Amino acid sequence: MTATVLTRDAHTTAVRLDTGRGQFTAETSASVPIDTGAAPWVPATYALAMRIASSLEIRTEDGVPANVDREQRAGAAAAGAIFASWFPEVDAVSMDAGLAGNDVVRVPGEGRGVGCFFSLGVDSFHAVRKHLDEITHLIFVLGMDIDDHDGSAADLAVERAQAAATDLGKELIVVRTTVRRVSDPLRVPWPRLYFGPALAHVALCLAPTLSAVIVPSSPPVTTRHGSHPYVDPHWSSSRVRLVHDDDDAWRPTKIAEISDWAPAMRYVRVCFQQHAETYNCERCFKCVSTALCIRVAGGSSEALSPDVDPDTIRAMPLAPQHLHRMEWIRDRLREQDDDPSVLAALDDAIAGAHRRSRLQGIADRVNEEIYLRL
Ligand SMILES: [Zn+2]
Repeated sequence: MTATVLTRDAHTTAVRLDTGRGQFTAETSASVPIDTGAAPWVPATYALAMRIASSLEIRTEDGVPANVDREQRAGAAAAGAIFASWFPEVDAVSMDAGLAGNDVVRVPGEGRGVGCFFSLGVDSFHAVRKHLDEITHLIFVLGMDIDDHDGSAADLAVERAQAAATDLGKELIVVRTTVRRVSDPLRVPWPRLYFGPALAHVALCLAPTLSAVIVPSSPPVTTRHGSHPYVDPHWSSSRVRLVHDDDDAWRPTKIAEISDWAPAMRYVRVCFQQHAETYNCERCFKCVSTALCIRVAGGSSEALSPDVDPDTIRAMPLAPQHLHRMEWIRDRLREQDDDPSVLAALDDAIAGAHRRSRLQGIADRVNEEIYLRL
């Protein structure tokens, strides 16, 4: 696969990918000047090549090899080796690029700041609270969970991110990227694999402003995931250090730890059902479980009310993998002598999910039996 870094302007960088499956172009722009060289495209293209090619060649627009520093070369190989050992659908690939001449011993700050990815979610607020004194910039990205083309949903999210950053006394950087519009058609799994390299791409783009970028932790460290404390630091360059906030706290613990923090409770956004007018839909599992965790912790939130209606609890789509958390919530609320109508609704929702799980188990066994007889 060949990746040609294209010249745009001081705020925009792009790459053209010539793959065995056609030609694709990805573009990333930011509200601040960005690194328009090859460095930001190393994680973004290396992770794609691992899925669809046996080698990666990174060039400039003049057709000559683009320069990549030795830290990035070694890091990409290390990250690739971990992904290849985790995921059967990818292989480590060789990278063909020029060697950038540098012998940097440590990342020079040069008056640059420390950024933190900031989606307005629980993990973001948890990481921001923990590193509040170090962080100078919050990074809000469109084109990952929220598409830039989602119109009012994207506008509302940017507006809230700006308001939250102002409350927190931090500068907001808004980044727009189309990398996912390349990785999705090439079937590079998101978030299981491409999420981490895509975040690293954005972090490296911000080299003129930031010398380190914090990636809030998401799944437990035992989960093989695209953004992981073992992998993310390997995407660092000699100019930008990536720091995975390796706080392995359980999500309800994280929620408890931000439930007494006004900025988090004012702006938290956990919902992936993108209803612009409601911000959080307050009906899906993520919304309801987060609201109930805030209730367990005794918090209150303008963005996600912990006063959840019993009918909403009964109507919530509850999958078998959600049962453990919902049972934990019910048991805590029962210990706190919470409203009996809320407890009864939780009992009904949990019993319904157990019933569906048993039926699914029977259906799976019947299917297997039929398959074996064919
Ligand atoms: Zn929701």
